[in-house]
Amino acid sequence: MTSLSPVLKQATPVVVDHALGSWIHGTDGRAYLDFTTGIGVTSTGHCHPRVVAAAREQIGKVIHAQFTTVMHPPLLELTEKLGDVLPAGLDSVFYANSGSEAVEAAIRLARMATARPNIVVFQGGFHGRTVAAASLTTAGTKFSAGFAPLMAGVHMSAFPYAYRYGWDEETAVAFALQELDYLLETRTAPADTAAFLIEPALGDGGYLPTPPAFMEGLRQRADRHGIALIFDEVQAGVGRTGRFWGHQHSSATPDILITAKGIASGFPISAIAAPTAMMAKAWPGSQGGTYGGNAVSAAAAVATLDVIEEEDLVENSRVRGDQLQAGLKEIQARFPAIGDVRGLGLMQGIEFTAADGTPDAATATAVQQGTTSQGLLTLTCGPAGNVVRLIPALVVTQEEIATGLERFEAAVAAVSG
Ligand code: PMP
Repeated sequence: MTSLSPVLKQATPVVVDHALGSWIHGTDGRAYLDFTTGIGVTSTGHCHPRVVAAAREQIGKVIHAQFTTVMHPPLLELTEKLGDVLPAGLDSVFYANSGSEAVEAAIRLARMATARPNIVVFQGGFHGRTVAAASLTTAGTKFSAGFAPLMAGVHMSAFPYAYRYGWDEETAVAFALQELDYLLETRTAPADTAAFLIEPALGDGGYLPTPPAFMEGLRQRADRHGIALIFDEVQAGVGRTGRFWGHQHSSATPDILITAKGIASGFPISAIAAPTAMMAKAWPGSQGGTYGGNAVSAAAAVATLDVIEEEDLVENSRVRGDQLQAGLKEIQARFPAIGDVRGLGLMQGIEFTAADGTPDAATATAVQQGTTSQGLLTLTCGPAGNVVRLIPALVVTQEEIATGLERFEAAVAAVSG
């Protein structure tokens, strides 16, 4: 009998029959409150009627209008709509299918546009699983161990992880910027450095917002040295953090922005945006792909952007995120196993630590598995696997957040015995 590869590591035993809004209905007949959203993908909730209608209508017109052969209206419409939300000056968009592919496209563009080879990434960053994207990923060795050699020209600098170091944020930022300057002096000269690549909030690396002062420090150094600043907004973008883009919590803007996941509510599509003058430095045909910018995905993305705007979902993310974080902090006060609660909007991480402050992955895993029994789906993250992450849909209601908090606390209580 054929079976699924054991290489897949499934966080829950749930088999989905159907799903709507914040709820997943299993073939076991149970309803689960979904605080995973397919790793931050089903932004408008599962099967939002507007997204379903747009995709259905497009399927009846054309499914695959291969974009290096012909063009299709949904992609043109999506490109125009993205213009309303992209930072000023990022007026040229290229599409792919997944986050990893878009990350690779951004790296390729930065190297071609600067004619420099090296990329600086920041500790704990997650940028994908293709070989090049895994080479840029420092959120854990499991993403890259065993299949070296990786892509050359990648250098890692420190991330201002204040909680881990027991520092205040200002000290952590000063340290990390100093480390970056040191790296540019000692290992990868600015003249050899094409780009800095960073997530506005670490995702798989531990649900840690990147301090605004660090983002701004990167912008200053990028300007000073002619280095491209790339923001990987694959997980933090599209309303997730209570602003449309994660980087909007700081005053820094990117030269290249990467988006995927939440942009199409579950249909595969990703994009990079950059100034036209920069995009023009990559010769036509140097980027492409068979499936990129799929017509059904693009129609779903247009509907997603419409729903986000009309239902005021970025604001909902901020307000419900505050509710979620306040509730989590109350739970933290009752359970010493919770060392830290942090996050922005509907991207909240709960870090479990032992009495001596060291990461406690066993408790985090037990809590994550326990939430499933309580009827709440959650995930873990972090290099040590000791952070439970909560990623509700942007349409989540006040009542659903309250239910999620109750179920989360029940799972923590069961583990804490
Ligand atoms: N960048 C970030 C910030 C991500 O969170 C992810 C996926 N977790 C990726 C890139 C890779 O995206 P994909 O899995 O679609 O290739």
